[in-house]
Amino acid sequence: MRYFGTKTAAYYERMHNALLPTTIEDFRPVIKSASGVWVTDIDGNKFLDFTSQVGIVVDHVSEDVVSAVQEQASRALGIISNDFQFASVHGRGSLVGEEVSPVKLAEELIKLAPVPHPKKVLFEVSGATAINAAIKICRAAQPKKEFFAAFERAFHGRHGPSLDISSSRQIHKLLHREGMPAVRIPFPGENVSFADYKKSFLNAMRSDLDGDVKNNLNAFFVEIVQGEGGINIPNLKALNWLHRQVKSIGALFVVDEVQTGLGRTGKMFASEYLDEPPDMIVLSKALGAGVPIGAVVTRTDILPNGTIPQSAHSGTMPACPLAVAAALANLRFIQDDDIVRHSAEMGKYLRSELRHLADSYPFIIDVDSLGGLMMRVEFDSKQMADTVVIGCLGQDPGLLLIEAGDKTIRFMPPLTVSKEEIDLALSIVDNVLKTLV
Ligand code: PLP
Repeated sequence: MRYFGTKTAAYYERMHNALLPTTIEDFRPVIKSASGVWVTDIDGNKFLDFTSQVGIVVDHVSEDVVSAVQEQASRALGIISNDFQFASVHGRGSLVGEEVSPVKLAEELIKLAPVPHPKKVLFEVSGATAINAAIKICRAAQPKKEFFAAFERAFHGRHGPSLDISSSRQIHKLLHREGMPAVRIPFPGENVSFADYKKSFLNAMRSDLDGDVKNNLNAFFVEIVQGEGGINIPNLKALNWLHRQVKSIGALFVVDEVQTGLGRTGKMFASEYLDEPPDMIVLSKALGAGVPIGAVVTRTDILPNGTIPQSAHSGTMPACPLAVAAALANLRFIQDDDIVRHSAEMGKYLRSELRHLADSYPFIIDVDSLGGLMMRVEFDSKQMADTVVIGCLGQDPGLLLIEAGDKTIRFMPPLTVSKEEIDLALSIVDNVLKTLV
């Protein structure tokens, strides 16, 4: 293929000798540099990145984030913030005159996240570890309630309890020993009528979810738009009804915004699509703009004495200096540049242009989104979706896309994408689709 230059081929040969496999496959470019919506591979090929690296990227290598990370690196780098807090006022870039500290970042998240007051933040290093920390908070809140519920095809992580409540792919469980079997609830998809959903849920409550589960349901973990499960869009009426049901039996409602958070769905948080706010929001991916960080924003009035016990949770790297500086600069960038509104506008444009395109190709069976730049493009077979992803990589310039679920390609460009870049991406897709008719 075009992008398989000699450097890429040599790199992958070394990779196969040195790295145990993960999800990486050797048909993708090896990225050397990135800027805005573009990436360049080690052979010099250029690609539009319509994956955002599965939701990490608001804008590749944003100047604000780079400047904050550089300044923080020269001030204090190796601080274990769960034992020694750090704080310094930055002297340049978008954070000039502002304190960079875990407390400042927590204060910002408390301001932004639609979780009711009183609320506090617990930091972690990734999506999965933040979900695990959220499960601990739920246990602290309701120690006697042992059951946790999640949707079918949910994805919450690949470690411990976060993997227990995940179910999007069986392969994830291969080397896992289930510790805490989750109560599974069907996802209220947009094509399910509210009346049908209500009926099937109430039936399930009567049979599968017996009195024991109902009385001992600690929390329900929810992705408002399911990411890895296939960019599944909810019927909001059914989801809001489910939320009320969960609250009425005294369970907590935790929204996993690891993929949807910070503008991705055209609102700062996908939780803003709910009628009532959740008890907890879990963040990661976009928060650190590429520097690892996870965070749980939780109501504290659900906890005994409004807190969790001292030392019940900690870690070496949560809220490390680089991650805190990156996250503060990234949040500033998202707000100052009105990125959420831009994501909503570009999302509408991308959806309508993709729908036009889909009208000409019968093998595209659905294009949809809840809002913003987290788009589902469903094909009639996995083979067709694979062919389009690989075909788009081979164009000049190329287009990076990534699949989700069985036969869906997610279109998730960086939130700064322009109309012109969307047009260019769609012309690349159109070129590939033409060859498949
Ligand atoms: N939750 C959701 C919704 C995700 O999309 C992901 C990752 O894709 C995770 C949790 C796990 O995050 P991480 O890969 O950082 O552990």
